[in-house]
This record gives sequence, C-alpha cells and structure tokens, in this order.
Amino acid sequence: MKQLFFTPGPSQLYPTVKGHITKALRANILSISHRSKQYQAIQEQTVGAIRTLLTIPNSYHIFFVSSGTEAMERTIQNCVQHSSFHFVNGAFSQRFYTVAKELGKAVYAQSVPWGNGFPLSKTAVPKRCELICVTQNETSTGASIPIDEIHQLKRLNPHSLIAVDIVSSAPYVRLDYQTIDVAFFSVQKGFGLPAGLGAVIVSPQALEKAMYIREKNISIGSYHSFPSLLKESRQNQTPETPNVLGVYLLGKVCTDMATYGIDRVRQETEAKAELLYKYLDEHTAMGAFVKDTQFRSKTVIVGKVKEGSKTLIARLKAKGVVLASGYGKYKNSQFRIANYPAHSIANIKRLVKLISFARV
Ligand SMILES: *Cc1c(COP(=O)(O)O)cnc(C)c1O
Repeated sequence: MKQLFFTPGPSQLYPTVKGHITKALRANILSISHRSKQYQAIQEQTVGAIRTLLTIPNSYHIFFVSSGTEAMERTIQNCVQHSSFHFVNGAFSQRFYTVAKELGKAVYAQSVPWGNGFPLSKTAVPKRCELICVTQNETSTGASIPIDEIHQLKRLNPHSLIAVDIVSSAPYVRLDYQTIDVAFFSVQKGFGLPAGLGAVIVSPQALEKAMYIREKNISIGSYHSFPSLLKESRQNQTPETPNVLGVYLLGKVCTDMATYGIDRVRQETEAKAELLYKYLDEHTAMGAFVKDTQFRSKTVIVGKVKEGSKTLIARLKAKGVVLASGYGKYKNSQFRIANYPAHSIANIKRLVKLISFARV
C-alpha cells in the first residue's frame, strides 16, 4: 500500500531521493572505497551543499557522525571539561542532559513542564558552565525556542560556548551560526533521508576548546573527537568507513532544496504549520499541545485529543497516512505530525481532510 509518513523521523522521503538512490546504484557508489578520489569528491560536494543551504560561515567545520544522539555525546566530550548547562522541556533536551551526566560532568539545568518554552535570555547561567545546551525544537512535545532568543545567548554569556540541537528543525531553522558554537542534525528528519547519518557544525572556538581539554589529559573521545574529525575532513574523508550512501544523498538533497529555494521551503513550512494549527485551534474535541503561540514548532505539530488519540491514529493508518503517537506518557492522548520539506501543501490539506473524516 502507498503510505504517506508524517512521523517525525524516519519520515516521508524527500521526493528526489528515490532517483538519487537509483543513480547511486548505477554509479557503484555503494562499493567504492571511502579512501578513493571518487569518495573525496562526494564528501566535498556534500559539505559545500550543506554550507550553502544553511549559510554556514567558511571558518566553521562540518563533520559527519552516525546520529543526532552521537552528536550530543561528541559535543559534551569536546566542549566540556567540568560543567554544562541545559534547558530541559522534553525527552530530547533531557537526553542531552543525561549524556553530560553519564560522561561525569557537573550538570545544571533550567527545567519547565513539557509543552512549554523558555525565555532563554532571562535565565541566569552560572559562569562556571562552559557549555549551554539548547534543544531548539523539542520533537517530543512540539515546543520550539524562538531563534532570536538563541542569538542573544552568546552576548549574555560570553564565558560559555553555545550548542544547539536542530535535529528536527533543520533545514527550516534560520540560525545565525556566528552566534553559536555547535549545531547538529541527523538526516532522517527534515532532510527526508534514510536514517544513519548525523552532521555536526563546529566553530573555531569549540575546536580550540576540544584541544584545550585534550591537553589536560582528559578524554575527548577517540576516532570521533573534533580534532580527529578535522584531520580527516581536511582530505574530505572521515576517520572510519562512513555511511557513503548517506553522505552522497545528503549532498544531493541539499542541492535540490537550494535549487528549489530555501526561502520558499521556509515560507511553505510556515504556511503548512499555520494550516494545521488553525485546524487544531478551531476543533472542539482537539487542540494543540503547546498553548503559547510563540513556542509552537513549525516542523513538529503536536495535537491532543479529548477522547484519546489512538482511534484517530488507527483510522488514518488504515487510509495509508501515518502519524506518530504522543511521546512517553502522552502516547495515548496526543499525536505528532511532522511538517518537513518532503510534505507538500497538498499532503497537509489531504491530512486535514482525513482527520475531519475520521470523526473523533
Ligand atoms: C531525533 C532527535 C534526536 C536524536 O537523533 P538520532 O539521529 O535519532 O540519534 C535528538 N534531538 C532531537 C530534537 C531529535 O528530534
């Protein structure tokens, strides 16, 4: 059966992916050596395409890892000697916090209930926190942090590095990378690709910090430390055998999105989100989980259903339309809808119509 995936990730594939996989097979991309010139050209293309699409400064490095979760661990290891600070409002920001704790760091947090956002700039961060961690888009709740708040963090906390999880908001999110030190994403969310690859964007200051920590004889990890990733990336390679197909496809999709127009992608994302929130706000038996409109995510829309979300999810699934359930304790009362570049306006209109027909 033909299915349409509105799950936050893995999700609907970006429309050009199938064609690129076919071409990759024909060009033997799946068998070439990761030390070959052919691979180096692929990685060079992909890094360039990410840089162009997201407007990443030339002085910032782009490294490949295996996932968003790995990126959290690498960020903590390479940027924190003693202590980190976390804004926690859902499962993924909590994970970032837990990773730091498990790595033996002293962790500080500002926590608010799920579904809420933060006035980041009004939070006092202890000076000793070397890294401030922000989950820009909480995929578990559909709450997102306004980008202007993130842009102020560095000015307000000049003693800290800033790390931003953009896993479920990239490439929609318009970050000014000059104001942050680390950002990371994985490809199975907004890029509409198969899972198995993450990218970390690293400032020169974050790299310096990694080398400083290493000099203190504290582990910053082995093959995927920032310095080892940098060493290999200078030759358009990775320390290990990477997900070659993933790197290839990411470059192709970034180029396709840039050709389509990133502004257009962003405008359409906002228009589609508005459609969904308007529908939820007007519904009597349903509503948006995030009440404060300034914190409503444009890329992951979370709805709650008075009578429970199970029937709705099941009825849509029978029509070939896959939504995600609520996260954790909200599993049976909420649903989550991904609104990524792979989802067309027509897809979203069809979804709204089907939700209406499902009569729950
Ligand atoms: C999915 C997700 C992650 C984890 O990414 P993986 O690639 O699954 O490891 C981290 N943060 C956020 C906000 C996410 O949505």
